Amino acid sequence: MKRRDLLAAGLLLPLESLAQTCGVITPRQTEGPFFKTDSPKRISLLEAESRGPRFLVTGTVLSAQCKPVPNALLDFWHSDEEGAYDNRGFRYRGHQFADAQGRFRLETIVPAEYPGRTRHIHVKVQAPGKRILTTQLYFPGDPGNPRDGLYRRELEMKKGKGEEASFDFVVEA
Ligand code: FE
Repeated sequence: MKRRDLLAAGLLLPLESLAQTCGVITPRQTEGPFFKTDSPKRISLLEAESRGPRFLVTGTVLSAQCKPVPNALLDFWHSDEEGAYDNRGFRYRGHQFADAQGRFRLETIVPAEYPGRTRHIHVKVQAPGKRILTTQLYFPGDPGNPRDGLYRRELEMKKGKGEEASFDFVVEA
């Protein structure tokens, strides 16, 4: 079989996706002032009163050796429709564990920007028993990205169809 046919059959990953997801540990970023411990365990951060556009992020947690990290902890938090964080309760905060193939899925809204920052999602990722990686994810093609000093292209999610994006983390495992 030719490489092209293998790709089409889903038996090979495109080289670009390998280059993006393997080897280099995901860059760390500041946790910022609004992290809270003890977030609820949930895959969906959607609330009955959520007004922001729905957004889905999927991806895989990988080791530097490009192996999936089963049961990796992912703890997400982001601002609401007004660009505010819930510091009393747990709106738009939640943790989950990657599945046996290291995959995760986060259902939420597109958070609003707040002064000085482009749109972003905060996250802590940890392979079982290993060091916590704290970072932030950025929205594909957001016009605010180039104006934000913290923004890094390597942390931009990959655009999927509609309001969907993907990101693969590489952590110490
Ligand atoms: Fe923030």
